[in-house]
Amino acid sequence: MKTPRSASPVSRRRFLGQLSAAAALLLAPRRGRALDAPPLSKKLGVALVGLGSYSTYQLGPALRLTKRCRLTGVVTGSRAKGRNWSRDYGFPEKNVFGYATMGEMAGNPDIDIVYVVTPNGLHAEHCIAAAKAGKHVICEKPMATSVADCDAIIGACRSAGVRLTVGYRLHYEPHHAEFARLAREKAFGPFMRMDGANGFEMDSSATAKTSWRLDKTLAGGGPLMDMGVYVVQAACMAKVEAAPDAVTARFGPVTRPEVFSEVEESIGWTMEFADGAVADCRATYAESVSNFRAQADHGWARLEDPAFYYEEPLLTTSLGPVRLPKVNHQVAQLDGMAMELQDGRPSIAPGEMGRRDVAIVEAIYAAAGNGRRVEVRV
Ligand code: NDP
Repeated sequence: MKTPRSASPVSRRRFLGQLSAAAALLLAPRRGRALDAPPLSKKLGVALVGLGSYSTYQLGPALRLTKRCRLTGVVTGSRAKGRNWSRDYGFPEKNVFGYATMGEMAGNPDIDIVYVVTPNGLHAEHCIAAAKAGKHVICEKPMATSVADCDAIIGACRSAGVRLTVGYRLHYEPHHAEFARLAREKAFGPFMRMDGANGFEMDSSATAKTSWRLDKTLAGGGPLMDMGVYVVQAACMAKVEAAPDAVTARFGPVTRPEVFSEVEESIGWTMEFADGAVADCRATYAESVSNFRAQADHGWARLEDPAFYYEEPLLTTSLGPVRLPKVNHQVAQLDGMAMELQDGRPSIAPGEMGRRDVAIVEAIYAAAGNGRRVEVRV
């Protein structure tokens, strides 16, 4: 990689952006604390709901490294798994709950935040149960499989007076935060042409019966719901969190009908923004791909492959590569969200953002279904 120019104004802004991305979270002056903000001396207790792959290999290990929160409970369909987690992570066995008994978390002082990591189609049920138990909620992406479910989650959290955030780890990752800053400060002018893709090759032996990601009810859709949400996020980030006015879309070919009997194998879509900016995007279960590029009049920024995975993403601009600290995405997100809560600051990944993205996804599916341009209502 080339060494970035050190003295350019963008380098300085980049440094400040780096600060704003990571260190500012640490340095930010404490504003008024929310009424329900816990004392700072206490690490917030997190209960993970659904002990599958993401909980086991990313979130659980991250919660051993976090400074502001720690794992204090789980919700699982497997009592044996729950017992193992309680032993491995050192929390009491009474903090192992079943999906039907989430209400029993109410009044449990060990648990402040419930992090829902179940299949997409179950997020609403589990987030609502967590809110009713009086716990702050982190919901994995996509927030739900319909805008109606997003509204139900938001309503339940508002009624309970708890905070709702979406597990958008990349907002807490320095390269993506720098990309957001370049957009916000229009370092190269407003981004007007974007393109990006995200996907992986789905196992050929998987079916809707063996993998919830291929089951329309549990997944809500195919790669658009799972991987495309990241590209939607990046496009909105490039437009300073604006939603597109309208979308057009087309489903890709089905090359393995035995695998893709319920959800799409791939999909392409175009997002049209109010200022004339356009984003051409793709999500796929047919190939491994992960990138995003944004072009403005006076330069460009590119999140290199793998732009959206857990590895350190590489950000390159028309001025050269951008070097920023490598972080563990999940640690940065969990500590970032805990800190926002403790400081009484609004989250940078609130439930409303998750709802916006599901509204965009719904419009993309409608456009791919009818072949027409569909207005996005957020
Ligand atoms: P897994 O299939 O690996 O795990 C899901 C877990 O949910 C299961 O192990 C099970 O846990 C629980 N579960 C409850 N009901 C069901 C059901 N009917 N069918 C299947 N599982 C059920 O999925 P992932 O961990 O990969 O994904 C979970 C969520 O996390 C998804 O929303 C996904 O989009 C999101 N995710 C986000 C990532 C990110 O980078 N932000 C990365 C990966 C996933 P138990 O046995 O304990 O009951």
